Parts: sequence; structure tokens; C-alpha cells
Amino acid sequence: MSSTPPQRAIRTAELLSIGSELTVGETHDTNAGELALALTREGVTVGRIVCLPDRLDIVSDAFRTAFERADLVVSTGGLGPTPDDLTRESIAAALGEATEIDPDIEAWLRGRWERRGLPFPEINLKQAWRIPSSEWLPNPNGSAPGWFVSRPDGGIAVALPGPPREMRPMWANEVLPRLHGRGLGTGAAIRTFRLTGIGESAGAEILGEEMLRRPDPEVATYARQEAVDVRISASGTDEAGASAQDRVDGAAAIVRDRLGQHIWAEGDTSWADAVGARFEGLGWRLAVEEIGSAGQVATLFGDAPWLALVRVVPSQAGHLDTDSDDDPSLVDRAARVRDDAGVDAGLAVRVRPRGSAFAVSVAVVTPNGERRQTRATYIGGAIGRSQAALIAAAVLFESASETAETAESARPL
Ligand code: AMP
Ligand code: MG
Repeated sequence: MSSTPPQRAIRTAELLSIGSELTVGETHDTNAGELALALTREGVTVGRIVCLPDRLDIVSDAFRTAFERADLVVSTGGLGPTPDDLTRESIAAALGEATEIDPDIEAWLRGRWERRGLPFPEINLKQAWRIPSSEWLPNPNGSAPGWFVSRPDGGIAVALPGPPREMRPMWANEVLPRLHGRGLGTGAAIRTFRLTGIGESAGAEILGEEMLRRPDPEVATYARQEAVDVRISASGTDEAGASAQDRVDGAAAIVRDRLGQHIWAEGDTSWADAVGARFEGLGWRLAVEEIGSAGQVATLFGDAPWLALVRVVPSQAGHLDTDSDDDPSLVDRAARVRDDAGVDAGLAVRVRPRGSAFAVSVAVVTPNGERRQTRATYIGGAIGRSQAALIAAAVLFESASETAETAESARPL
């Protein structure tokens, strides 16, 4: 074999999802989304995600053109033992290399069947194939080994199995460490601020076009289910010698300055994480009564240890003393559920139709006082109800943060 191929920095990637079940629409491609997220977090720009049928000409052509553009090409699927599993042949064809049976893989494969006392199906021998420029990656959850290919052009190709339960551990345990060993993620910096109480377009307007259009550091807004996110990213050292982290921190200071009052968390913190951190810090536990939100608050908080009781009441059973959105008796309900559970904090949420969306009334009662607020969702139905739960979480978080700060400043030095 020739000497070690040159290596190049991993800045760009393309993802190939292989399998006719994807192109006929029977299976949704979840693998590529997960890999794109992981790579983006490492500072890699994913330039394309493509779904391909089990056809040698199409798949080998896709690898060939992806190699021309991207430092890293990751495929999932097509590593099974049957003739329609063509990923290995396709990579071999794209690189002009021949496949041969690797004795180590063959021994590993045969061992899998021997341990179960079963005869080895010769059709599976195909899974022992390797090309000279590939390393094989063991699969603890299936018979399909992966490939880690050092391309002659200095780039990398990775072939992973299609089933997500095989793909994920191989990516995390075999591929990422190898990519990190080749410098993946070094010199990349990312910060994400999570916003509440403001829509994506209003947030973008406050940040300004100049900030959102500049390529470095990149500042982008994303409307996600739990929040509007502002993501700031950069990689490498710039012409003035500033590190990616310095450039990201510089932009982060401006974002904080312009949108600070809306920021409730950083990174991928969820509402359950953010509220939970406050409650655990204060040593509080929470009881909830939700009316007309179909259990969405309980769903949002999940099985949190600080959640003592959730009472879900259908809206028609939730007769309150008044039909006003700003209903003082909601505070009594929050106090009652708190007392019934014998805990520190009570939250009552009431969701009522208002036009095509909902009015969401929230009352919070804690050892430090009461808080009552009414806000509107943008839409109705199931999505509107889950928005209502986010509003409730935001009000709860604000009140827990307020007391946390007050308690902090009141603490003797
Ligand atoms: P394969 O490695 O081609 O034998 O894939 C086997 C199975 O993995 C498929 O039948 C799907 O259930 C699943 N699978 C393959 N590709 C994907 C993908 N991109 N996203 C989610 N599941 C997938
Ligand atoms: Mg397949």
C-alpha cells in the first residue's frame, strides 16, 4: 500500500442517506438530521443532505461528486448483506479501489454466529469486505461493520449502518473520536441564546440586518419548538489573529445587550432543565393544576424529581369564578394544589380559546409571593396547547429567578 494520504482540515461535510425505503417515502430519514446536528456543533458546515435509492450507479456517482466538494462525506444505510446493499461497492467504485475480504472482519463476523451456535450464512461474507484505504468499525448492535475511509485526496468518508440504534453508537464511539483525532472541532466556537416572549422576526429585527448578514462570526436566528434561538458561530483564527471564541464572545455581548431581557438559557437547555435548575437550587418542589391544556405542562416537565403533583382538568370541568382572562381565583387554585401536595410552589394554568388561538392565564404561588399573567398563543389545537405549557414554564421560571436573585442579594456577605 502507498504511504499515508495527506490530511486536510474538516470544515465541510455532505451526508448521504442510502436506501430505497427512503426514496419511496416509507422511512423518514432521521439519521442525516442527527448527524447534521452533531457536525454543526463541531463547527462543520453541512453543505448537502441527500437521500438515494439502492442503485449502484446513483450511489457511486453521489459519493464521487460529494468527494469533490466536501472534506467529510458520511453515509448511512446499505451495509446489509443482500445484493441491494451497495454502499461498499459504491465507495470502492468512486475511489477506483477493489474490495477484498478482510480476515479480521471475517473472524469477527463468524464469531457472532458461533456464539449463538448457528451456522454462518455465506451471504454475510460481503460484510467482511474492505478497501485498502478503509478501516473497519465494529458494530456491537448488528452484523454490519462500518467503514472509516482515508481518501487519497486527504478527505474522509464514513459509512454507517442504517438502523439508528446501530448508527448512533458507532458514530459516537468509533467515528467521533477518530474525527477529533484529526482535528475536528478544534478552533470552532458556538454559543446559542434561547429567547422567550419574542418572535423570530421581531428578534431578527432587533439584532439588525448588518449582524445577521455578516459571515464571521455567523449570527442566525431559529424558531424552535421551545424557544427562538440566536446562534453565534465561528471557526479558526481570523486575519486579525482573533480566535473563534473571542469573535463569538464579542458578538454574544452585542446580542445580550440587544435582547438580554428575553434570554432565559444558553445552549440546548430545555424549559424542564431551566426550571429544574432553579427549583433544585432553591430546594423547592412544585404542584401543578392545568385546565384546558390537555396535560401539556406535565408533558413538558416530564418525570422531574422536583415535580410533586400534576392535576389535569378538562376545560369544561374547570369552572372558575369569572370568565375573565385575568382571573384572580386562579391564584387560589395554585395555592390549593400546592397545599394539597404539601410542597413549596403551586402553578395553575388555564387555557381558553380566543379567536383561532388560546388565551393562557397563569398563576404562580411560592414562599416569596404570587404572580399572575395572561398571554396569548399564536395558534390553536395541539400545538397551541404545547405553546401554552411553554408560557406557563416561562412565568414559573421568571418568578423562581426573581426570588433566587432576591435571596442572593439578601444573603449576608
Ligand atoms: P440498511 O443499513 O440499509 O440495511 O438499513 C436498514 C434499516 O435501517 C432500514 O430499513 C430503516 O428502518 C433504517 N434506516 C435506514 N436508513 C435510515 C435513515 N436514514 N434514517 C432512519 N432510519 C434508517
Ligand atoms: Mg438498505
